[in-house]
Amino acid sequence: MKRSQFLKLLAASSASLFIPRLYGEEVDPFSPPKAVEYETNRAFTTAGPGFGRRLCITFDDGPNPSTTHMVLEELKKREVKATFFLVGKNVDAFPDSVKKIRDEGHELANHSYSHPALKNMPEEKVRTEIFRCQESIEKASGVKAVWFRPPYGSFSQKQQPISTDYHLSVALWSLDPLDWKKPGSSIVTQRVLSQSNPGSIILLHDIHKQTAEAVPAILDGLLERDYTFATMSEFLGDPLISL
Ligand SMILES: [Zn+2]
Repeated sequence: MKRSQFLKLLAASSASLFIPRLYGEEVDPFSPPKAVEYETNRAFTTAGPGFGRRLCITFDDGPNPSTTHMVLEELKKREVKATFFLVGKNVDAFPDSVKKIRDEGHELANHSYSHPALKNMPEEKVRTEIFRCQESIEKASGVKAVWFRPPYGSFSQKQQPISTDYHLSVALWSLDPLDWKKPGSSIVTQRVLSQSNPGSIILLHDIHKQTAEAVPAILDGLLERDYTFATMSEFLGDPLISL
């Protein structure tokens, strides 16, 4: 969906149903696009629209063939599409896994080349991290990612023009079950199921075995609650459109 169509859809829906949960500066989703080179989100995206019962599952830090392939298998069984925020050096190490993610219909997204905290880094290093990951994904899969998730969410509003230069919009999350702390797969499942809402962007890490083991129960639980699933771009449209 194009962003302009998305905005129309938003306008057609009840405003009370749409509660933007955005990081930093408030954005009025009904304001018309400005005549600049790109219409940009002025804030980072942390959630999708709250109408309907759609949510977005995202997997960070991979690929890691053994665990990523477990996750892919469970997604495929249930015909669920997810978004994978890939680390460039892992893309270079496991390009076949990246192709498999693409071939199974999931969205590929940028999570930097070597996973540093970017907020206090010099601009050139930040550019290199974003650009090298972008290049690695494109080389492995032919896909130009349009979403960027800074590692640890460490990215400032002042740095946002850098990601915009690479036609990337910044995606954070609204639901973090802290799976990377390895609390056990049943705790991860319980946290996701108890905290999910329409519009949630769920943060998981497909490099951990516990997370991969939690995925079947997470997906089944969300399906039982009548949720449907969208990739980041299905959820929010093309984040940056040329005017
Ligand atoms: Zn990460």
